[in-house]
Amino acid sequence: MAKRVPFVCGNWKMHHGVEATRKQVRALVEGIGRLQGKVEVAVAPVATTLFAACEVARGSPVKIAAQNVHWAEKGAFTGEWSVAHLVELGVTHAICGHSERRALFGDDDTTVPKRVRAALDGGLVPIACVGESLKEREESRTAQVVGRQTEAILEIVKPDEVERLVLAYEPVWAIGTGKNATPTQAQEVHAQIRALLAKRFGAKAELVRLQYGGSVKPDNAAELLREPDVDGALVGGASLEAPSLLAIGEGGMQRA
Ligand code: PEP
Repeated sequence: MAKRVPFVCGNWKMHHGVEATRKQVRALVEGIGRLQGKVEVAVAPVATTLFAACEVARGSPVKIAAQNVHWAEKGAFTGEWSVAHLVELGVTHAICGHSERRALFGDDDTTVPKRVRAALDGGLVPIACVGESLKEREESRTAQVVGRQTEAILEIVKPDEVERLVLAYEPVWAIGTGKNATPTQAQEVHAQIRALLAKRFGAKAELVRLQYGGSVKPDNAAELLREPDVDGALVGGASLEAPSLLAIGEGGMQRA
């Protein structure tokens, strides 16, 4: 099996202003020591703080991600920003299609792949999110929904760039609820995603990192990241304080 470097990314959503962002990114930079070279760590701060976050993280192994990115290069898109705007700051990753963007801001299987495509074209690593709602899980539609969302994304990815893609399986019922998917539930869906990747990209599927997201914390990270296809975590609440995100990263050390 290919060796995939575990990857944890914090999603700070609409928390932390500039000063708190500087403080937490600095704490990540200072605390990443043991993880360096073994587990990749990134955070996605509020857009207005990206400049400050990049300034503090510059030259360190801590990567800065955006929570969203538009597919156009420029133009009349009030409230959006392009890949070039992010790259100019030093941002290296972009979350695409987080379930909150899908539920609250109209992202769907048309716009999410466009965001992923733009990120890949512009040299950013897309962290593309998929996941079913509670209702869909209860109706036994998890495989169908995740399959549809994943296929829409994979359709626009070329074979020679697939290893740059990160996919995050985030069951909506587990996000911010304190009720994480069990390791078995997460592995089951990750294995399905890996199989879809293999169908399109053959052996390269083994190079793609699949994050799990949904109430990951320091005390459940290790058991989730022990699963063969869970290569990291996308973390909301438990990423707001740097020591907690680093402790989650420690959970990935067993894979390193
Ligand atoms: C998220 O927002 O992507 C997330 C997984 O949140 P939480 O860890 O708080 O469930």
